[in-house]
Amino acid sequence: MKIYGNEHLISTFQNMLRTGRMAHSFLIYGEKGLGKKMVAGYLAQLLVCENEEKPCGRCRACINAGNNTHPDIIYAEHSGKLGGFSVDTIRNISTDAYIHPNNSNVKIYIFTDADNITVQAQNSLLKLIEEPPSYAYFIFTAHSKSVFLETIISRAVSLSVSQTDISTALTALNDYGITEEQANDAVGCFGGNIGMCLDYINQDELKNAVQLTKRITDCIINRDEYSLLYALTEAASEKAFLKNILSMLDRIIRDSLALKYQEESFIGCYRGGALKLSETLTVRSCGNLHRCVTDSYKLIDRNVNLKLVVSSLCGGIMNCR
Ligand SMILES: [Zn+2]
Repeated sequence: MKIYGNEHLISTFQNMLRTGRMAHSFLIYGEKGLGKKMVAGYLAQLLVCENEEKPCGRCRACINAGNNTHPDIIYAEHSGKLGGFSVDTIRNISTDAYIHPNNSNVKIYIFTDADNITVQAQNSLLKLIEEPPSYAYFIFTAHSKSVFLETIISRAVSLSVSQTDISTALTALNDYGITEEQANDAVGCFGGNIGMCLDYINQDELKNAVQLTKRITDCIINRDEYSLLYALTEAASEKAFLKNILSMLDRIIRDSLALKYQEESFIGCYRGGALKLSETLTVRSCGNLHRCVTDSYKLIDRNVNLKLVVSSLCGGIMNCR
C-alpha cells in the first residue's frame, strides 16, 4: 500500500514496531481527503504482515489486507444514527474482540468516519480499550479529535493527517493515471489534499461548486453587486450545495486573512482570489466578510429560505467592503 505524504505517521508506526511498543488504540483525525482511511489501512497491513519488513505488500496477509478481505481486519458497520455505530454493532465487537484471531496473531477493528460516534458507544467500548486482549487493536478515523471522550483520547495515540507538498500530490495524481493538465488544475484548487484533488477531477458537482465559488470571489473583488447576487442565487439552488459553496468561500477569506499576516498556508480552492482579496481588503473587512458568511451558514441550518439568505448575504458583503 503506497502512502503519499503523512510521513510523520508512518515513522511513528515504524518506531513503535521497532521498539516493541505498539499502541493498541489510535485516533487518526483531520480534514476530508487527507488520507485517514489510507493510513488506517496501512497500519492494519503493517500489523498483519508476515514478513520482516512490514508491511511488505507481497505476503498473503498484506494482499488480503489490501483487498479488504483479511478476516482479522474488521471494519465496524455504520449501523447507527447519522452514520454512527449502533449499540448492537458495539456489543458484537465487544464480544468478538475476546475471540482469538483466525489467520494471524492480531485482530484489528477499524471505525472509519467516526464523527457521529455516540457517547454511549464510546462508553461501551471503554473497558475494551482500557484493557484490550494482547492481540486486539482499535483504529478510529474522524475529522476532529474532539468527537471523542477524554477517557478514550487518554488511552489512545492521536495522530493528525496533513496535506502533502505540491510535488508529492502531483506524483500521486500521475500514479493514479490523471493527466498533467487535470492534475495541475486540481492542485491549483486543493493544493496537497490528494483526496479532494481526486474528488474535484472525478465529481462534476464539486467542479461546478468550485467554479461558482471562484466567480463569487471575483464578484467580491470587483465590487460587482449585480453579478454577485446573480451568482449567489445560482448557488442557492439547493441547501447542501449552498453550504458547500459558503464553506469554500469562507476558506478563501481565511486564506486572504492569513496572507495579511504574511502566512502562506492555503486551505481554500482559489489562491489567486485569496491573494487579490488580501490586496484589496483590510484585516477588518476580511473579518467582517468571514462573519457575514458564517452567519448565513447558520441561517441555512435554521431552515431560513435560501433566496432570503443569499440576498441578505449579498447586502452584507457589499457593506463589508
Ligand atoms: Zn506483508
